[in-house]
Amino acid sequence: MPVSKPNILLLGGITEAYELAEQLCHLPLRVITSLAGRTQTPRLPQGEWRSGGFGGVDGLIHYLTHEKIDFIIDATHPFAFEMTKNALAAAQATGIPLIRLERPLWQKQVGDNWTEVETLEDAAKLLPKEKIVFLALGRQHLAPFLNGRNCQLIARMIEKPEMETDGVQIILAKPGTTEEEKAFLKDHHIDIIVARNSGGKPSYGKIAAARELGLPVIMISRAPLPQLQIVETVDAAANAVCQAFRLSE
Ligand code: NAP
Repeated sequence: MPVSKPNILLLGGITEAYELAEQLCHLPLRVITSLAGRTQTPRLPQGEWRSGGFGGVDGLIHYLTHEKIDFIIDATHPFAFEMTKNALAAAQATGIPLIRLERPLWQKQVGDNWTEVETLEDAAKLLPKEKIVFLALGRQHLAPFLNGRNCQLIARMIEKPEMETDGVQIILAKPGTTEEEKAFLKDHHIDIIVARNSGGKPSYGKIAAARELGLPVIMISRAPLPQLQIVETVDAAANAVCQAFRLSE
């Protein structure tokens, strides 16, 4: 009788989730990547995938039970707190092991001019008057900046926001290299950047560019989530799965 493969639920959201799905698919595992379903034409991972919310903690518990999930990997964005909290609650309720793949935070370097704050709302209070502000935040996080401002706002994102972004200049583009980001910041005469400390390489170009151009950054910190077993790399995540099921990579 064939032995069934362990079922892995990989909550996607960061680029590294695709790399991890690819690595895990070489192993005797059933790998299901879950996508939030926010983008119209998402990149699809290797292995199985599903899309859309589970319906809160209860919905997730139901899914885990129905699909006989043996192991959960949370590889959502560092600021996707809701999904991370739900995954933790569902893992605790079901006893299914959970690890989180999380990029290490960016560390302030010599030459960085950061003002660190805890929330988007705190950042919005610090917007300087009559300056050009680059909101490097993504479309879901603009709301706190829209009212009562007297500066010029430019936001860059991959897809158009669903909400009204009255008066904000929206630029549809992806993050670039340090050189590309320097050109972007200069072309748009940016005075100050608002960013979240997402960590990782894909969006670090703007931070390095700000340092080289001497521009200030309002940096929104990441709230720590205790009780989570965190790994920082794709290899470490794959290793943890191998150890859990006594597989060799
Ligand atoms: P969030 O606030 O943590 O999640 C809101 C809800 O979206 C969750 O409660 C869940 O719905 C659903 N959801 C989120 N990730 C999911 C996944 N991988 N699979 C299935 N359902 C998921 O997250 P968010 O900030 O709205 O971000 C949405 C997605 O975009 C996340 O996967 C995140 O990794 C990715 N992303 C976010 C950012 C960001 O800046 N926040 C940046 C890049 C990518 P239910 O409660 O119904 O299960």
